[in-house]
Amino acid sequence: MSYPYAYEAPVSQTLFDRAAVVTPGGVNSPVRAFRAVGGTPRFMVSGTGPYLKDADGREYVDLVCSWGPMILGHAHPEVIAAVQAAVARGTSFGTPGEGEVDLAEEIVARVAPVEQVRLVSSGTEATMSAIRLARGFTGRAKVIKFAGCYHGHVDALLAAAGSGVATFGLPDTPGVTGAQAGDTIVLPYNDLGAVRAAFAAHPDEIACVITEASPGNMGVVPPAEGFNQGLADLCRANGALYISDEVMTGFRVSKAGWYGIDGVRPDLMTFGKVMGGGFPAAAFGGRADVMAHLAPAGPVYQAGTLSGNPVATAAGLAQLRLLDDAVYETVDSVAAEVSGLVSAALAKEGVAHRLQTAGNMFSVFFTEEPVTDYDEARKQEAFRFTAFFHAMLAQGVYLPPSAFESWFVSAAHDGAAVERVAAALPAAARAAAEATA
Ligand code: PLP
Repeated sequence: MSYPYAYEAPVSQTLFDRAAVVTPGGVNSPVRAFRAVGGTPRFMVSGTGPYLKDADGREYVDLVCSWGPMILGHAHPEVIAAVQAAVARGTSFGTPGEGEVDLAEEIVARVAPVEQVRLVSSGTEATMSAIRLARGFTGRAKVIKFAGCYHGHVDALLAAAGSGVATFGLPDTPGVTGAQAGDTIVLPYNDLGAVRAAFAAHPDEIACVITEASPGNMGVVPPAEGFNQGLADLCRANGALYISDEVMTGFRVSKAGWYGIDGVRPDLMTFGKVMGGGFPAAAFGGRADVMAHLAPAGPVYQAGTLSGNPVATAAGLAQLRLLDDAVYETVDSVAAEVSGLVSAALAKEGVAHRLQTAGNMFSVFFTEEPVTDYDEARKQEAFRFTAFFHAMLAQGVYLPPSAFESWFVSAAHDGAAVERVAAALPAAARAAAEATA
């Protein structure tokens, strides 16, 4: 297959060839491989503010921001200084440290439903541990999740998941046994009636409902008015826990994440991405009486050699402490500007599309219909995104290499960066208009 807008990336191609010998598919996380859009994945060598530089020396405006974490842009001087200071003191002790307390206090202070929090190293670990805790606390086995929501590669949660699973259209994943997925009930997103029916069909069996606070892993599909509150109410009425996965939205869409926008109180919450400042730090937390069941306070086991790592916690803390109202106002206005430009450029070329937003997260669906769940998301003309993506890449704008992912901007995306995006859009919109399946 040839890509009309593709251009040579010889150094990236050489690196990718080397990588493919020693790493499955040449990448350490599937969506990075560009398989949904084709072409050579760009190997990045540095990042500054809103820009990334690849191994061939080309610069891109970054609209992925490491899939969310880099809300202050790349190599923010204060975050880098905090990391350098932490590294110089030693990189891991396997003991408690003050930085972990500081970071936990910062999270508890920002997100009211979180009375206690446990630090882990990835969003996957956070959701896996939260589910185990919910099962241990309730003594029940079943978990409700929604099609198109991605909660990391937890065995029990990979059924009908979003992100890479959506990108590649995987029905389910070999290696996940019936026993591991058998207690997972997958329901259509935004359908409270289906949740009500599942509780009625499985009385006293459902431990928890887990949902993305506002999904970004099937593209951006925000909850319908009252959906999250309805989930919280149904959980309460049926003795189950309501787990809000804020790995993507947490500390990104507001100081208190999506909770800061809709105010619906979960029993447990999960975090990652922004709270790690670009390092592997994540967390889960919530009601103190539930968290009290976690080892060593309680019987539900959970642990990690690098949990609360001093360098990762220093990075996360430095980033969180910089995230004041002014930063969120900037990120919100950059997101509104960029998404408005994208929509206008596509409209000008007569390309049917929906620009969907959730706070400062947004994505484009190449369809005329509103997208409220995974089935609707999959009806879009993803081939138009492929053409659009390559045209933007060729002009120095780095988008998520999939039509099923949120786009992210940062407070470092200044007028010059937005101007570069604006300059690339007309040709990309034309490419989308001319694309054929
Ligand atoms: N939950 C959500 C909502 C996510 O978006 C992700 C990752 O994209 C995860 C969980 C998993 O996080 P990680 O990739 O850090 O394991």
